[in-house]
Amino acid sequence: MAKIKRIKFEKKVYEYLKPFHITGSIASSSTNIEIIMETGEGIIGYGEASPSFRVNGEKVEALMAMENFINEMLTDMDTNRYKSIFDVTDKLIASPSLKAGLQFCVVSIFCMEHGIKVNDFFGGVKEYIETDKTIGIDSVQNRIKEAEEIMKSGFYHIKVKVGENLADDIETMLRIADRTRGATYIVDANMGYTPKAALEFVNQIYRAGIEIAVFEQPVFYQDIDGLRFVRFHSPFPVAADESAKSRYDVFRLIKSEAVDFVNIKLMKSGISDTLAIIEMARSAGIRLMIGCMGESSVGISQSALLALGTGAFDFHDLDSHLMLREERFRGQFVQEGPIIRVL
Ligand SMILES: [Mg+2]
Repeated sequence: MAKIKRIKFEKKVYEYLKPFHITGSIASSSTNIEIIMETGEGIIGYGEASPSFRVNGEKVEALMAMENFINEMLTDMDTNRYKSIFDVTDKLIASPSLKAGLQFCVVSIFCMEHGIKVNDFFGGVKEYIETDKTIGIDSVQNRIKEAEEIMKSGFYHIKVKVGENLADDIETMLRIADRTRGATYIVDANMGYTPKAALEFVNQIYRAGIEIAVFEQPVFYQDIDGLRFVRFHSPFPVAADESAKSRYDVFRLIKSEAVDFVNIKLMKSGISDTLAIIEMARSAGIRLMIGCMGESSVGISQSALLALGTGAFDFHDLDSHLMLREERFRGQFVQEGPIIRVL
C-alpha cells in the first residue's frame, strides 16, 4: 500500500541560453510546474509539467490553480494500482503536461516502493540512446554556424527548424549539409508550410542529393489530407507532431495513412497515451521518435527513462535542458555529449 497523501505544485522559470525561435513563436524562457507527490509512508515522487499554449492550449496559471482539485482527485489513491490512477488522470485532456508529470510521479513512487529502476519498469530495453540538438530559426549565416558548432561538440543528429521562409530554408539546408557531412537531419516545419510549399522544399533538397531522416509536421495540425498528400509525394519520411497529441489522434492518422512517423512527447500524451501510441504504431508499422517541449533536466529525465526502457524510438529529440539555464543538473540519467545513459 502506498496511498497518495499530498501533491504540491511549484512554478519554475528557466531562461533560454538564446531565444528559441520556431514557426510562429519566439520564447526567451520556459515556465514549468514541478510536481511533488508524497505518500502516507513518506515516499516522495518528483515530476515536471512543461505546459504549451501553442500545442496544447495550456496556460501555466490555469494549471497552477488546479492544485487543490488534483489533491481532491488523487488523495488516498494507491500507487500500486497505478493503472487506475492513469485512468483517472486520463480525464485531464485540457492539461496533458500536468497528466504527464502526475503519472510520472506515480510510476517513480511505485518503483521506489518495489526497488526497481524506472527504465526497467518501462521494459529495460536500451542501455543508452542518442539525442539530437536543435537549431532554431535564424539568419542563414547563423544557422550554418550553429550547425557546425553542434557537430564539433559531438552531435551527429541535427534538427533544423524551418517553416517561415521557404527560400531561406532551402538555402539553409543546402549549406548546412555541405558543412556537416555525415550528419543525420531531422527537419521540422512546425506547421509552417502549405502542402505545395512542403513538396517544393523536399524536392529541392532531394535533387541536391541530401537525405532527410524525418520531415516533421510540414502542414497545419488539422490538415490530415495535406499531411497524407505530402507523405505520398515526399521522398523522405513524414512525421506528425502537432497533429498527434492523444492516442485517438494517432489512431486517426494511422487510419488515414497520413504519416510514416509519429513524434511522441510526454507533454502532449502523458505516460498512458504514450504507451498506447507505442503499441498502436508497432501494430501499424509506423515508426516513432520522441521529442520535448521546454522541459528542464527533471522533465527530460521522464522522457529519457521511458525511451531507454521501451526502446521504441528511432530518433530522440531530448535537448530542451541543453538549451535552458539551470542551476544544477537534476536528471536521473548520465549524459556525455549526445549519449544519454541509464544512471
Ligand atoms: Mg516538432
